[in-house]
Amino acid sequence: MSFALQTPISEVSKIGKALVTKLKKLGIETVQDLLEHYPFRYDDYTQTAAIAALVPGMNVRVTGTLEFIQNKRTPRRRMMITEGLLRDETGQLKLVWFNQPYIGRSLKTGEQLSVAGQVQADFAGVAMSSPEYEKAGQGALARTAGLLPVYHTTATLTQKQLRTVIHSVLAAAAQLPEIIPPEILKQHGFPLKGEAVRNVHAPADPHALERARRRLQFEELFVVQVRAQARKKAQQAQAAPVVPFDEAGTKAFVARLPFTLTAAQKKAAWEILRDMQRAVPMARLLEGDVGSGKTVTAALAMYNAARAGKQSALMVPTEILATQHFASLCTLFKGEAEMPIALLTRTHFQRWQGGVNEVVSKKELVAAINAGAVAIVVGTHALVQEKVSFRDLALAIIDEQHRFGVEQRRILREKSGDVETVPHLLSMTATPIPRTLAQAVYGDLDISIINELPTGRKPIKTYTVEEHKRRDAYIFIEKEIKAGRQAFVVCPLISPSDKLGVKSVEEEYKKLNEEIFPDLKIEYLHGRLKSDEKEAIMQRFLANETQMLVSTSVIEVGVDVPNATLMIIEGADRFGLAQLHQFRGRVGRSDLQSYCLLFTDAQGDQARERLETFAQTTDGFRLAEEDLKLRGPGEVYGMAQKGFPEFKIATFDDQVLLQIAKAAAVAIVTEGLERYPDLTEWVGKEGEWVVG
Ligand code: ADP
Ligand code: MG
Repeated sequence: MSFALQTPISEVSKIGKALVTKLKKLGIETVQDLLEHYPFRYDDYTQTAAIAALVPGMNVRVTGTLEFIQNKRTPRRRMMITEGLLRDETGQLKLVWFNQPYIGRSLKTGEQLSVAGQVQADFAGVAMSSPEYEKAGQGALARTAGLLPVYHTTATLTQKQLRTVIHSVLAAAAQLPEIIPPEILKQHGFPLKGEAVRNVHAPADPHALERARRRLQFEELFVVQVRAQARKKAQQAQAAPVVPFDEAGTKAFVARLPFTLTAAQKKAAWEILRDMQRAVPMARLLEGDVGSGKTVTAALAMYNAARAGKQSALMVPTEILATQHFASLCTLFKGEAEMPIALLTRTHFQRWQGGVNEVVSKKELVAAINAGAVAIVVGTHALVQEKVSFRDLALAIIDEQHRFGVEQRRILREKSGDVETVPHLLSMTATPIPRTLAQAVYGDLDISIINELPTGRKPIKTYTVEEHKRRDAYIFIEKEIKAGRQAFVVCPLISPSDKLGVKSVEEEYKKLNEEIFPDLKIEYLHGRLKSDEKEAIMQRFLANETQMLVSTSVIEVGVDVPNATLMIIEGADRFGLAQLHQFRGRVGRSDLQSYCLLFTDAQGDQARERLETFAQTTDGFRLAEEDLKLRGPGEVYGMAQKGFPEFKIATFDDQVLLQIAKAAAVAIVTEGLERYPDLTEWVGKEGEWVVG
């Protein structure tokens, strides 16, 4: 019997009420959900073996005659054990099942049986514990032969149950929508969707399985790429204001900087300025490690826009960052009297002009921006919320782009002040995503990477601190703070939990404030506080009114507190390497020597090795690559990056398949997506989650 894809699982005959509840825990509610619950690995029972040839550890299938079968109860633990003996021409294999008495009742001695499982050593020879089994000699084997799927499941739902219910709806796979255009299926020899899904759950053979998996992985990557390419095409159909490159002016501007640009900054700036000279809107992602100098690089672009008589906007995620960027831009543009700069947040309204910084009313500031009397506007999302409409916005820059939703980015771009054009877009991020991965995820963005730090920076000294050295560490911290410095303390949780000893902000704050450092001014910060409170706490820390800030990962975003030289991380093993690196980037922002101290009670070698790697590596991109090897992109970036795609079966590891998917997407989108209504509908369905 074949079901419709949207049939609720409760209507599938094999699925009773209890099973419905269990399947719902896995997010499975319909027949289609069942079909798309793909196995994550397979038990290989393609090989059969003679009993005499069995070696402990092997995963095999054995057929033979059941010589003996019996249920018995263990004396003390009151468990039901089913014991059996299987014989072939070469020997005897012991079989054991626990608490499944129906097995003892349903199997009869003398029957031909096929069993599959892992071979174990037994005092009398070899045994299999809880093997899969089925009667042999009655047609094809479904449970004990070939490649058996293994699914992600929950404690109470067995593999056997999942296999059985998925098996019972497999015929419905034929109805799954085929969204890959036929010519692409043909070109790459991909099986149809229905066939692929059937083979993924019930592989005919290893080759068919490989083809099926690849087909399904391709589809996921292809959808991502089509979406990105479609957006790119739409973007490029729009016009952008041409911003000519003022070579002489730019050189003079650079010459006035108090430092020399790094080669990587120059290259990135050149790529940006080259894009802006075109009438097609730039869509570029600027990646650069914390402290690599993205702001100056962006400033060169803003400078050129201003020279062309046009406006730029820089949108950042917090008020403090906005204030800091405003201050640093005022310094950078010191010599540029004709380039007024504005600061616009929910609570700050300032204008800087000809070396004078004045606080103005919101109304006045907005009017100045709208009239084009301000060249550069720095702000928070107030930029998109307030009644701001630029007169001539040529360049929209978004710092820490992953903190903004697609919608906010879109609105900013629509404020160009000219219905005919959209501004050039520069997104900036300190999350180091390796180029190939970034291209795969942000297929519609061009990418510039600043992969070196300015010379002369003192590397941050990073140490893992053993628990018995904690006291020494506190003495060291106290000494630094008494010398005028400040410290961040990062904890994995806000509140104490019963999870074994994981450090929380509340507990740690109390301990540090009351017991360890009673004379210091300490505050705490976490995501549950109101944003006004958070700002005020950060401001006090910035002003050195507090010396220690105990916080969750919310301090990750780039606030510049040059006087903070200590980054103390509790439960360090609970953070990814990339995230630890972001924390560490909060210190080392002046010429003072900074330190990062990692506390952990993790016992495992792997956790320790990971932290050791971190302590020895200062390059964010290298750390990201290490992290990716260990945890995969979804886990490394999924939490922090809005819109990082989640796949059911594809990964970003397969560069070849990625390139194939991209090429196919480019071809389809270039031809015109409208020729493929099914694909168009599908691609539009899940909404937009890639940078727009
Ligand atoms: P990020 O990439 O983290 O946003 P910033 O742009 O805030 O980095 O730069 C960090 C600091 O380094 C700033 O104080 C900036 O003035 C300084 N800086 C930027 N480029 C250079 C350079 N080439 N040489 C020395 N200092 C630089
Ligand atoms: Mg920055």
